[in-house]
Parts: sequence; C-alpha cells; structure tokens
Amino acid sequence: MNVVILLGAPGSGKGTAAARLAGRMGARHVSTGDMLRAGVAKGTPAGVEAKRSMDAGELVPDTVVVRMIGDVLDDGGADDCYLMDGFPRTVVQAEQLDAVLSARQGRVEAAILLDVPDETLIERMVGRRICPQCRRIYHVRTLKPKTDGVCDDDGAELIQRDDDTASTVRHRLSVYARQTEAVIERYRDDGLLVTVDGRPQADVVAASIATVLGERRG
Ligand code: AMP
Repeated sequence: MNVVILLGAPGSGKGTAAARLAGRMGARHVSTGDMLRAGVAKGTPAGVEAKRSMDAGELVPDTVVVRMIGDVLDDGGADDCYLMDGFPRTVVQAEQLDAVLSARQGRVEAAILLDVPDETLIERMVGRRICPQCRRIYHVRTLKPKTDGVCDDDGAELIQRDDDTASTVRHRLSVYARQTEAVIERYRDDGLLVTVDGRPQADVVAASIATVLGERRG
C-alpha cells in the first residue's frame, strides 16, 4: 500500500493535479474535501456537523477525517496506490496516517508540495467553479468549460463552493498557515518532501509531479 500526498494551500491546485494524475499513476484519488461535501449533500448528521466548520473555513475534527481515511484504506490491497488530496492537514492526522499504514505494511512514498503565491491562490479560489456531479474543477477565466457555466463531461450546471468567497478564502489561508505548515516540516524532516512550482497551467504542473515521482522511483 503506497501513498503519495499532495500538500499545498487551498487553491494551490491539488484537486486539479490529482484528477489528471490518478489515472496515469494507476492510483485512487482520495479527496477528504470531496468526501465531506458528498456527506453534506446527502445531509448525513456528520455532514451537517462538518458543513458548519467548512463554511467557516475551519478544519473539521481530526477524528472525522481520520475515520474516513481509515475506511478508504480498509478497502485497499497491498499493491494499491493512493493519491491523497487535502489529507493530512494536521500533525495529528499525519501521525494517524502513519499508524494506519504501518498496520498494513504501507508507506508514504512522497509528499509533493504545490507552491503558489497567496495573491494567485485567492484569485483561483474566488473564480473556481465545480461540477456538482463529477466534481471536475473549472475557473471562470483560466480553465473555462466549452459552454459557459456547464460541465464538459456531463452537462451539469457548474456551482461555486460555499467556502470560495473572498472572506472565507482568506481565513482558510490563515488556518493553512497555522495548522498545515507543521505537516510540511514533518515530511521535510522525513526526507519525503518535494516542492513543485504550482503556478503554471494545470497540465504542466501535473507533468512536473509525474516527473518528480518518476525520478524518485528511479
Ligand atoms: P478542500 O476541498 O480540500 O479545500 O476542503 C474543503 C474543506 O473541507 C476544508 O476547508 C475543511 O473545512 C474540510 N477538510 C477537508 N479536508 C480536511 C482535513 N484533512 N482535515 C480537516 N478538514 C478538512
């Protein structure tokens, strides 16, 4: 069981890169944000509880996301590869991931940090639109669908995430700085961290990540 972690601030392009890379790597794309939004859409009690934190730009409790990830990895076999997008976001989550993996003879192969300046992050998130059905990510200026406001893949009407408003976005960036920077340092200390320039177009970023992983695998 092999895990590649995508790290980076909200809006750094983790979801977009993961969607492009998972198929190519034969990996399963695991997005805790997408899983939580699916719970919210279903109106489960856990979803309703999580929505409050998400709308406020806060993290949902570690126990909730660690349980979700545990359930995902429970379904996995020894040869499976996972591309984690948005997890771990706290040191506790990183420790719990290690514990879950060591119980399954799994390991973290690499932690890829997508580096993007704050001004770009804000611009990306405020202009982000998503397909509520297939979760594909668009941007009103830089990643437009073929027909305005409609998903290329399934024709669903694109929506804006409730937490992609200018004020919530700023708060999410400060939460990231406070909680997730320590996760980055942890993977740096373990020699697993690789920083990739997250500013170019999505395909270029995905190609850079594929190259880095290829080099590490030798
Ligand atoms: P994302 O789609 O990754 O930007 O996540 C959206 C929101 O879901 C975050 O702002 C958090 O409220 C919540 N969330 C996603 N992943 C996690 C996580 N690993 N730990 C805690 N909260 C999370």
